[in-house]
Amino acid sequence: MSYEREKEVAVRAAIAASKLCQRVRQDIPTAMEKQDKSPVTVADYGSQALVCKALAEAFPDDSVVGEEDATALRQAEMSEALTKVTGYVKEIETNATEEDVLTWIDRGNGKIAPRFWTLDPIDGTKGFLRQDQYAVALALIDEGEVKLGVLACPALAVDTRDPGILFVAVRGEGAQMMPLAGGQAEAIAVCDADNRANLRFVESVESSHGNPAQQDAVARAVGIVTPSLRMDSQAKYGAVASGQAALYLRLPSPKTPDYRENIWDHAAGAIVVEEAGGRVSDMNGKPLDFSRNVKLKENRGVVVSNGTIHDTVLEALKSIAQ
Ligand code: AMP
Ligand code: MG
Repeated sequence: MSYEREKEVAVRAAIAASKLCQRVRQDIPTAMEKQDKSPVTVADYGSQALVCKALAEAFPDDSVVGEEDATALRQAEMSEALTKVTGYVKEIETNATEEDVLTWIDRGNGKIAPRFWTLDPIDGTKGFLRQDQYAVALALIDEGEVKLGVLACPALAVDTRDPGILFVAVRGEGAQMMPLAGGQAEAIAVCDADNRANLRFVESVESSHGNPAQQDAVARAVGIVTPSLRMDSQAKYGAVASGQAALYLRLPSPKTPDYRENIWDHAAGAIVVEEAGGRVSDMNGKPLDFSRNVKLKENRGVVVSNGTIHDTVLEALKSIAQ
């Protein structure tokens, strides 16, 4: 299956959501706190509303497993936030009402199904708030695997080009990137084994989302001598897929050893890297299973590479992180 229509709808939705996010960022957004204490902004809600609306119209039978839900926004004390979200959504969907926005956001509370979408409306909310990297990440899981991934990175620049890059991949068809502002798509590939200049690794800015000491030790063990590039969100997958870095390491934090990764934090990025010729697994070499749960329950840590160094990395991990 070529997923041509799915790709077209997902790309358009991610571009619209990115526009909303950039608009909110111009106004210097503040964070609200979710029940689990993680930050959320009006842009997270607005982005989820726009993407879910587009998916509902094009694929009404598809379930969407998104990060946000509208429960908090329905509370009376959040009416100001709801009005703000609706205001931003209306800049793109001019007839949207507050009720529409709530309904669209809650369309993202779907269940895992044989075919479903997973959405992180803003991956890297902390980066978004810091005026750093963030991503709108949307993936389609079908027949047990990720078939399509769209990763919009409004603050990411590759080479000397203007920031704002969209990565897209369809299983079996390669990966591409294009300027978010519009323009030609170009095929991308991971960096070669002998590309010493790009033999770098990327890791999270938030040290509590990984294990920086172990990540550093593994990178050194495989011959990476330059300090890591620290980046928020799945933009890290974009860096590996476009050959800017050879490795992305995300090892379990010693502070949260029982943490399990969310599917929406990895699905879109993973297919983009795989289709660019790279490899993605957990720290034990197991493939990431996106088809069964909202969490990657059976996986520990995430290793993303250009492919050629993957086995060496897994080997180094055996002695460093067990
Ligand atoms: P990053 O920007 O790569 O640090 O990833 C951001 C994502 O990290 C957020 O979307 C969270 O879902 C996720 N996250 C939150 N807590 C943890 C944790 N203890 N370990 C790993 N990831 C986490
Ligand atoms: Mg996220």
